[in-house]
Amino acid sequence: MGKAIILKSASEVERMYEANQIVASTLSLLQERIEPGLSTWQMDHWAEKYCRNHGGIPAFKGYRGFPGSLCVSINEQVVHGIPSKKVKVKEGDVISIDFGVKLNGFYGDSAITLPVGVIKPEIKKLLDETQQSLYKSIAQAVVGNRLDDVSAAVENHVTLFGYGVVQQFVGHGIGRDLHEAPEVPNYHRDGASPKLHEGMTIAIEPMINLGTHEVKVLRDGWTVITKDKKVSAHFEHSIAVTQGKARILSLRQSEDLPEYLLP
Ligand code: MG
Ligand code: MG
Repeated sequence: MGKAIILKSASEVERMYEANQIVASTLSLLQERIEPGLSTWQMDHWAEKYCRNHGGIPAFKGYRGFPGSLCVSINEQVVHGIPSKKVKVKEGDVISIDFGVKLNGFYGDSAITLPVGVIKPEIKKLLDETQQSLYKSIAQAVVGNRLDDVSAAVENHVTLFGYGVVQQFVGHGIGRDLHEAPEVPNYHRDGASPKLHEGMTIAIEPMINLGTHEVKVLRDGWTVITKDKKVSAHFEHSIAVTQGKARILSLRQSEDLPEYLLP
């Protein structure tokens, strides 16, 4: 048996929204500033500064010893890339940026994969379809469904394009802890899966590979890369299950939602 799922009250969800909006604004800021030559350390510095200026605490810094505020993962890197002054992004790269913030006792967590300048059409499609798989899974996060409906929605969408679904890392419940129950896989799992209830707050985060699903961790102990070195994409939102459609707590102002998710 896993740990119990902690349901949140409306006021707790509101506090989570505030934490997540610092995350969302930080990601938007990085989206505006990303350009060839920028170091991933500089991105990390901007994110931490913005977060602290808004009263938040960067959630990843020091988490199990992680050195950065951001996870910045380039091209074949899937997740957990470490920011560095030596790593500069270049035209044609894709950069997965994952950020977490603690504010007033609650966590926010969200990620996007951004292109640097012009990228190959097949990679642009990977980014677009990974984001669409996130939206399709969010659409399943409604009272009466089960968690497996959320998980299967990601897999069902991306396998249409022959992409690999990372299995070794999954989404999670979120609240007073960065990682709470339940695990939120991006693929169907046989067996019982929890029913969704109002007040459940989860981070859904498809990690989708252009090639196979296989990944490995580099010797730095953090950076996850695809085994075949093909590009990977990562999109994440923290959401709350409410009456009716799910509420996207980490929604960015500039984000174009599909019509079926509009409130
Ligand atoms: Mg994250
Ligand atoms: Mg997460």
